[in-house]
Amino acid sequence: MSGVNEIRSAFLDYFQANGHQPVASSPLVPRNDPTLMFTNAGMVQFKNVFTGLEQRPYSRAATSQKCVRAGGKHNDLDNVGYTARHHTFFEMLGNFSFGDYFKEQAIELAWNLITKEFGISKEKLVVTVYHTDDEAASFWRKIAGLPEDRIIRIATSDNFWAMGDTGPCGPCSEIFYDHGPEIAGGPPGSPDEDGDRFIEIWNLVFMQFEQLTKEERVPLPRPSIDTGMGLERIAAVLQGEHDNYDIDLFRALIRASEEATGVKAEGKNRASHRVIADHLRASSFLIADGVLPSNEGRGYVLRRIMRRAMRHAQLLGARDPLLWRLVPTLVREMGQAYPELVRGQALITETLKLEETRFRTTLARGLTLLSDATSTLQNGDSLNGETAFKLYDTYGFPLDLTQDALRQRGISVDLPGFNTAMERQKAEARSNWAGSGEAATETVWFAVRDRVGSTEFLGYDTEQAEGVV
Ligand code: ATP
Ligand code: MG
Ligand code: MG
Ligand code: MG
Repeated sequence: MSGVNEIRSAFLDYFQANGHQPVASSPLVPRNDPTLMFTNAGMVQFKNVFTGLEQRPYSRAATSQKCVRAGGKHNDLDNVGYTARHHTFFEMLGNFSFGDYFKEQAIELAWNLITKEFGISKEKLVVTVYHTDDEAASFWRKIAGLPEDRIIRIATSDNFWAMGDTGPCGPCSEIFYDHGPEIAGGPPGSPDEDGDRFIEIWNLVFMQFEQLTKEERVPLPRPSIDTGMGLERIAAVLQGEHDNYDIDLFRALIRASEEATGVKAEGKNRASHRVIADHLRASSFLIADGVLPSNEGRGYVLRRIMRRAMRHAQLLGARDPLLWRLVPTLVREMGQAYPELVRGQALITETLKLEETRFRTTLARGLTLLSDATSTLQNGDSLNGETAFKLYDTYGFPLDLTQDALRQRGISVDLPGFNTAMERQKAEARSNWAGSGEAATETVWFAVRDRVGSTEFLGYDTEQAEGVV
């Protein structure tokens, strides 16, 4: 059985042997890219290479890229702990061709790696292509010998990638592993494709066009390749597990959390341990890359992730701050591949400890308020926006923490009511301010505030760029 660390190395070695330059992961906070909150795909660090703005001394590269998908367009936060395949932080393995090889070789390299090097049985694999991409379909027939019914044509944007409204774009082809009929879920393209039976392991993007304007698309003179494979998902397959949270790395983290709390990861406690393990990784890697908890922007996304995990620690009955105690296990598992974790260990530990120490007092009081406010509510009801806002404003509960707390009881939050309460508070702040007599400053200040919106909510909806395979 190969552990996560060996699989990562095997991937990079294979592509190096096939002429690719191994390149280090870029930080989670993208350099010089204010349009993107966090690096969310391997291609992010190569954007300018694909568009031709930047030259590199190599035309083929391979990476294992740290990714966070916990805000904006690609937000997997709500899936964590509940699906077998989503994390907020994960590693994306990728091979890239900058105008070098194209479709046929990309398919061949991917197929050989998973079926020959990794030994995955062909019978378990299903692929998708964009519905008009006959070329890709014929390469899959030729190279993999897959029958027609396991080359599924998809007509949606899931199989057509674009960097943005303009720029490079092209069809993609995804490789799925069938975990077997005992698991709920249908093949890609079917109505129940969101189940966890057929899990997408690898996405190959064929960048072959350039979108010039909304209407005009031209072929790229030198088409490129961008791929992304979830390390935790391929590890699950290779370790004979269905669930990402059962791979060696997550077992170690969950074991540490079981030991620290004295509570087994079973029954209703299973999701809590998973959320804690996942959010510990995301928080630690974000802190190592210089993000600190705050009330706006990236720092607020980090705070939301941390506080959410802390509520789950509370659910498990942890009497003292928990997360910081799991850091040594994370560093032991991942510190060799990511030395920034070792360098940042003291800062990570202190930041987690401080945030959890501070939050625990209002967390307990807020949870009491929440349980009183929802005692008469049932499945399908919603919590009034006033209370959700009070929890946010007075007790420091990010909105998604409240939503997560109510999820298992099937209770939602009245979002328009929450927004109205937020607006009212802003208006009150504005009228209180009006008395200060500094007219010019206040006009500017409120104009800026209105333009950027409520800064605390940057994390929910401001990730504009599609930096994703
Ligand atoms: P899904 O449809 O399962 O949400 P995706 O199509 O959004 O995945 P891509 O954007 O194609 O994912 O990313 C490339 C690869 O990265 C995926 O094939 C998958 O293996 C992995 N991946 C994507 N999102 C996650 C996540 N939240 N956690 C773990 N791995 C992920
Ligand atoms: Mg997704
Ligand atoms: Mg997908
Ligand atoms: Mg995909």
